[in-house]
Amino acid sequence: MKDLIVASHNKGKIEEIGEMLQHLGIKVIGVNDYISMDEVEENALTLEGNAKIKAEFIFDKVKKATLADDTGLFVRALNNEPGVRTARYAGENPTEKDNRVKLLKELEGKDDRSAFFETVLYLIDDNGKEYSVSGICEGNISTQEIGTKGFGYDSIFIPKGEKRTFGELSMEEKNKYSHRAKALNKLNELLVRILDEDRNSK
Ligand code: IMP
Repeated sequence: MKDLIVASHNKGKIEEIGEMLQHLGIKVIGVNDYISMDEVEENALTLEGNAKIKAEFIFDKVKKATLADDTGLFVRALNNEPGVRTARYAGENPTEKDNRVKLLKELEGKDDRSAFFETVLYLIDDNGKEYSVSGICEGNISTQEIGTKGFGYDSIFIPKGEKRTFGELSMEEKNKYSHRAKALNKLNELLVRILDEDRNSK
């Protein structure tokens, strides 16, 4: 596996994954360099299902190793909502602020504010074999927005073992807890194994 196409338009995300996989000799390339993902409908009921839809869409067209991700925030007092609808919680094209405001409103008066983030990474290798790994970060939703760092729901999520929200943590501090960092570590281990097996079979 020399090239890995990542199903994202987010330059920061592509660079982050690229840096992490550099030591394996894998070159990470954003999907925009190949095809448009505009027509893909993420309509599965699970994060894994949505990541699989994206990865298979690309692999079918480009026939190269592909990685797709999906992240959700699951809030127990809200029957695990917003879950797969985390990005669209406050409507069809909401701002991140709209989503945070809606979540704080839905939780007004609820005692249980526990929640977790989950990231699923779905990999299809050069031979079309499929794998998935995931990372979870447990925590609580704060009662108001605190901190200006990060993105999305960071300013209202307090990871377990912390008093501060993700919005108050540096990237390095966030990565000690983060769902995405945990999933990326597992992806790293998985790729080491796949590359080893590849070498041994030659
Ligand atoms: P995506 O799957 O990366 O597009 O993320 C889905 C939704 O979760 C979007 O609304 C993101 O803003 C939010 N999100 C994903 N990861 C994080 C995070 O690490 N902190 C806060 N919000 C996140």
